[in-house]
Amino acid sequence: MRLPRFNPGSVDVRSGGGGGGMPGGTLGCGTLLLVVIGALVFGLDPGQMLGTVESMQGPSASQQQAPQGSSAEELCNANAYALESCNALSSLNETWAPLFAKANIPFKQPSLTFYRGGTRSGCGAASSAMGPFYCPADHGIYIDTSFYDTMDRQMGAGGDFARYYVMAHEYGHHVQNLTGMADQVRSAQQQTPRQANALQVRMELQADCYAGVWAAKHSNLIEPGDLEEGMTAANAIGDDTLQAQAGRRISPETFTHGSSAQRVEWLRRGLQTGDDDACDTFADLRR
Ligand SMILES: [Zn+2]
Repeated sequence: MRLPRFNPGSVDVRSGGGGGGMPGGTLGCGTLLLVVIGALVFGLDPGQMLGTVESMQGPSASQQQAPQGSSAEELCNANAYALESCNALSSLNETWAPLFAKANIPFKQPSLTFYRGGTRSGCGAASSAMGPFYCPADHGIYIDTSFYDTMDRQMGAGGDFARYYVMAHEYGHHVQNLTGMADQVRSAQQQTPRQANALQVRMELQADCYAGVWAAKHSNLIEPGDLEEGMTAANAIGDDTLQAQAGRRISPETFTHGSSAQRVEWLRRGLQTGDDDACDTFADLRR
């Protein structure tokens, strides 16, 4: 995808260091749910994630990739993956802001934090083993860009479009946060805990669809091979595929992100329609 270079003034980019300004120390109340909700495209299972999060508490969680106070320009030029992420973020901001204006919903940009190894977020301590995630509490997308190497080498999901899909998916969670969808789902999960995973799957599939919508609105920038990269990535990160790869029994009741087929389907739906209204993954529940 030939994304234009980011506009440094139009992105909020930070370096994930020792948690300056963040509530440090312990995981706050509701963090368990937030960690699950904020979760990963590339999920480990939530139990594993939480184990990781808990083990990351303490001073060792702060490894800085760049000095605090670095400008967006510096942080985005740290490496090729960072630059791609910033270009995507800039484009995502420009794409979604007018859609919110049209819907008369207040819009706020997310921040993007690059970190290495571990960091603190408004949702508690995080480790790169969690993969990229979105924290609703501080409107932040968090990425350790070395994850893109893991994706390429270990999951067979390489290519720039696969990486843009990750950013656009996390941005999709930001959209859900701003529209109030995330809150609605959270309270539904609290009311019917048995449905918590199934509801989470719908959230994730909607974020996949939103990622497709963003790309569809820039179809003139899409290059040969991009769509295949996206579909390959969506397929690689389905819960059934991840469970099978880990040598585990495939158990749909534990899915939190959706099967490979579902993820491919909803990414495709966004790509084909370019319409966020087509991303209502909850529609059948309201009938
Ligand atoms: Zn997600």
